[in-house]
Amino acid sequence: MAELNAEHRGTAQPAAARLWANRWLLAAGIVAVLAVHGLAGASAYVVLAAIVLLLAAALLPSGGARRSIEDAAAMEAGGLQRLSGEYLAAAVADPLIIFDRTATIVHANAAAFAAFGGLAPGMSLSLKFRAPEMQALLDSVLSGTVASEIVDYTEKLPVERAYRVSASSVGHATDLYVLVFKDQSEARRIDRMRADFIANASHELRTPLASISGFIETLRGPARGDPAARDQFLQIMQNQTGRMARLIDDLLSLSRLEMKPYLKPGTEVDLRQTIDSVIDSLAPLARENGVAIERDFVDGPLDVPGDRDELFQVFENLLENACKYGQSGGRVTVSIERDGTGPEPGIDVTITDYGPGIPEEHIPRITERFYRVDVESSRTQKGTGLGLSIVKHILTRHNARLSIKSEAGKGAAFSVHLPAA
Ligand code: ADP
Repeated sequence: MAELNAEHRGTAQPAAARLWANRWLLAAGIVAVLAVHGLAGASAYVVLAAIVLLLAAALLPSGGARRSIEDAAAMEAGGLQRLSGEYLAAAVADPLIIFDRTATIVHANAAAFAAFGGLAPGMSLSLKFRAPEMQALLDSVLSGTVASEIVDYTEKLPVERAYRVSASSVGHATDLYVLVFKDQSEARRIDRMRADFIANASHELRTPLASISGFIETLRGPARGDPAARDQFLQIMQNQTGRMARLIDDLLSLSRLEMKPYLKPGTEVDLRQTIDSVIDSLAPLARENGVAIERDFVDGPLDVPGDRDELFQVFENLLENACKYGQSGGRVTVSIERDGTGPEPGIDVTITDYGPGIPEEHIPRITERFYRVDVESSRTQKGTGLGLSIVKHILTRHNARLSIKSEAGKGAAFSVHLPAA
C-alpha cells in the first residue's frame, strides 16, 4: 500500500509543479485571448499587460523547476529510507555483520553465515571472535575514539582463511556498527607462491655461480701451474654456465607465457609434421642415450587449433624427459591417435618410455615449478625442474589436458589430449 501511495504522489507532484512553473505564461495567454476578443477601448492596455507578463515569464527564475529538483531529491531519499539495512547487507558479497554498542549481533548477511556459521542475532561478537586483534578492533570503534578501523584477522577452522576486517560506526544516531570481512586468502597464497618461486630460482642460480667462483679461486691459487687441473676445471665451469643459461631460458619462457595469457585464435597446427620435427631434433640425444624412438601415428590429417612453437616445446620437453629419465628402457614410443569418444573430441599424443617410471606419490606434484623426483638425477641430466611446468602452462592455454600414468619399474606414459576445435 505504501508503494502504491508513493507512486501516486510521484505522478501527481510533477504535474502540479509544471503548472506552477508555467503560471505566468498561462496568465499571459488568458490576457491575450481577452484582448483578441473585444474590450476595444481597453485593448492597448491589455496588450501591454500581456507583453509585460510574457517578459516576466521568460526572464524570472523558475521557482517551480527548483522545487521539482528538490522534490526528486526528496523522493530519492525516501526510496533509500524504504530500502532496509537487511536488503543492503544481502547485496554485499563479503561477510557483513551489523552490531550494537554492546557488541551484540543485530544482523548478519548470508555471506557471513556461510563463512562463520553459528551466528545469530543477540549473540555476543566478543565471544564469537575471541582473537585479540578482533577484540581490539571492537573496543576501538565502540569506545568512539575512531569512526572506523581495519585489522588483519585469520580464521583457523574449518580451513585457514585470512581476512582484512573493517569496523565502522553507522552514525546518524543509530547506535549501530558494521563489520565487513574481505577475504585475502587467495592474494596471500599467490604472494607466498611468488616468494617461494624467487627463493627457488635464486637458489638454482646461486649453486652453479658458487661452483664457478670456487674454481676461479682454485685456478688462481693452488692449481695455477697445473695444466691438467686447469682444463678439467674450465670444463666444469663451462657446464655450470650452461646450466645457468638453461635455467634463465626456462625462466624467460615461463614469464613470456605468463605475459601472453590468451592464445591467438584461428591458427592450426599440423601435429604429424610438428612431432616429426621434434623427433628429428632429438635424434642426437636419443642416439647418445642409446634410446630408439618409435612412431605410431594414425593415418589422415592431424590438425588442431594452437600455436606451433608452443606445441613443439611441449613435445620436445616430454620426449627429452623420456629419453633422459627412461634411458634404461632403451626405447620410447610416440603415438598419435584420434579420440572422438569423450565429451571433447580431439587428438591424443602419448609419449611412453620403459625406464624406472615415477613413484605414484610424486605424480600429483610433478608439474610444479622446481619439483623433481630426484634432484641429483635431474642435475646430471641437465634438468632445470621447470620443463613440466612450462608444458602444463602451454597446455592450459590450449584447453588441453595432460595425464601421467606410471608403474614403478615399468616406465611412464605422458598423454596430451588436444581438443579438435
Ligand atoms: P627437469 O628439468 O628436472 O627434467 P621437469 O619438470 O621436466 O624437470 O621434470 C620434473 C621431474 O619429473 C624430473 O626431475 C624427473 O624427476 C621427473 N620425470 C619427468 N619425466 C620423467 C620420466 N619420463 N620418467 C621418470 N621421471 C620423470
